[in-house]
Amino acid sequence: MGGGTLIIPQIMKDKISTLDIKITNKCNYACEYCFGEPDQTTDIDLETFNKSLLLAKALGANFLEFCGGEPLMHPEFAKLTAIAKENNFDLILRSNGILIGKYLDLIAKNFQWWEYQLTVQRP
Ligand code: SF4
Repeated sequence: MGGGTLIIPQIMKDKISTLDIKITNKCNYACEYCFGEPDQTTDIDLETFNKSLLLAKALGANFLEFCGGEPLMHPEFAKLTAIAKENNFDLILRSNGILIGKYLDLIAKNFQWWEYQLTVQRP
């Protein structure tokens, strides 16, 4: 994991089990109800991702949930997955499923839970 030391007050330790991490704002859909304000430009960088994992561990989290936007649109999704597994997180994926075929093996091997969001909109 990336360098650095975090000083976490004792009262904050072991207080969370899961860190939701928004790895991208990009999305390949346009749900009417979306509150995530997706744009087509913003991806988390590796330094910020590593710092987030460090913070999650310091707070006692064992689960990491990849969300967005659409997390499968992050160009380094496979690398982020590998880093998270190297740091012994159990992984959760929240996805709209459109790109699932591209990453099916990777997801099956590394993610404990997949949450699919199904959107039905009137024409
Ligand atoms: S799939 Fe998710 S991020 Fe994308 S538009 Fe729908 S609610 Fe927003």
